[in-house]
Amino acid sequence: MIRRAYDAIILGLGAMGSAAAYHLARRGRRVLGIDRFRPPHSLGSSHGHSRVIRKAYFEHPDYVPLLHRAYGLWRELEAEGGRTLLRTTGALMIGAETSEVVTGTIRSALEHGLAHEVLRAHELQRRFPVFSPDEQTVGVYEPEGGVLDPEACIETHLSLASRHGADLRFDQSVAGWRADKGRADVHLEGGACFSAEVLILATGAWSSGLLPDLSPALLVERRVSTWLPMVSDRATFFGPSRLPVWVWEVPEGVFYGIPALDGAGGGVKLGIHSGASECDPDSVLRTVDADDFRDLRRFLVGRIRWIEPSPIRATVCLYTMSPDGHFIVGRHPDCPEVLIAAGFSGHGFKFACLIGEVLAEFACDGNTRHPVDLFNPSRWGGRAQPS
Ligand SMILES: Cc1cc2nc3c(=O)[nH]c(=O)nc-3n(C[C@H](O)[C@H](O)[C@H](O)COP(=O)(O)OP(=O)(O)OC[C@H]3O[C@@H](n4cnc5c(N)ncnc54)[C@H](O)[C@@H]3O)c2cc1C
Repeated sequence: MIRRAYDAIILGLGAMGSAAAYHLARRGRRVLGIDRFRPPHSLGSSHGHSRVIRKAYFEHPDYVPLLHRAYGLWRELEAEGGRTLLRTTGALMIGAETSEVVTGTIRSALEHGLAHEVLRAHELQRRFPVFSPDEQTVGVYEPEGGVLDPEACIETHLSLASRHGADLRFDQSVAGWRADKGRADVHLEGGACFSAEVLILATGAWSSGLLPDLSPALLVERRVSTWLPMVSDRATFFGPSRLPVWVWEVPEGVFYGIPALDGAGGGVKLGIHSGASECDPDSVLRTVDADDFRDLRRFLVGRIRWIEPSPIRATVCLYTMSPDGHFIVGRHPDCPEVLIAAGFSGHGFKFACLIGEVLAEFACDGNTRHPVDLFNPSRWGGRAQPS
């Protein structure tokens, strides 16, 4: 039995789905949003109370115009929601002069005229004494970098979406969907069925189940974020007014850190961005053990001073990797009624508000004014997956 019709149904109300719900509801569309849990929750990809945001994007210069808009949209959301979401700390990209993190950051900064400073090792250490770089290491400092609070961003998107009239349903799982002739039907596990003109799939690490064609292209990886204590008389060097968010590429991988946002007792958050094994989001190990900290401990030795090696806490989070590391956002290659927002490859949060706007424009106007060709779901030759 088909219940009531909507203009758009959004599956998944995490980072991307909550933003899409807000942008569509704000445009006056009848929106139904469904999530199997109650976001913000800690089972997907959008928890841990901090996400790096920066503009000089080492991943590709084409992200920079999108980041200009994302910064503006986060500030608008703060104003409408009456809550601080983005804290500016500066961002520091560290590595050898030839590393991807350093060369890519400088390339994006120069191509788009972004404020930045290249710091030699001694200057890097003088400005930010927690780092002990060797002579060959450089840092690229970007004053506009900062930190978003992911849980607060999702809460704000959801509460404003509902204030604008969105019908949001939690603890309900979607079993399947079908789309044809300008209409999409969605079936919930309890048997209920809803229909709309547009269906948005934003189911994060669970996307493979609902997008079987795309499934070989989506690799879910287990990631651990760790909070470590600072040596007590040096804690001030780790505060957000003294330490920027940072990413450091070394031969063993790419590591990152976030200043101590909750005072000395909360510790500094650290994580590894590269190299992890595949997992299933329904059976992934959610607890952590000593093995999870081994690579991080090795990285810290001789590079970062005044951090104690025993974690205060740690959390497991999921990356959904695409084959080229770029997002998968746009129209489904075979079903024009369906929009995909998947494969955010461990760097999507900072764009969530912008992705919400892109999806709303696709849904309402048939296209988007934003340059998102890099994310086209058909980029592997008209199929939903690379051959
Ligand atoms: C440790 C870690 C650090 C990160 N650091 C950064 C960073 O510093 N900067 C940055 O920009 N990005 C970062 N990211 C990446 C970023 O957080 C993700 O790209 C982003 O959160 C993905 O959002 P999403 O909406 O795709 O997934 P989610 O927010 O997980 O949302 C998916 C939702 O879909 C729901 N769902 C799934 N299946 C169903 C179903 N069948 N029916 C109904 N609902 C369903 C889930 O319950 C979930 O709520 C990090 C990620 C991790 C894990």
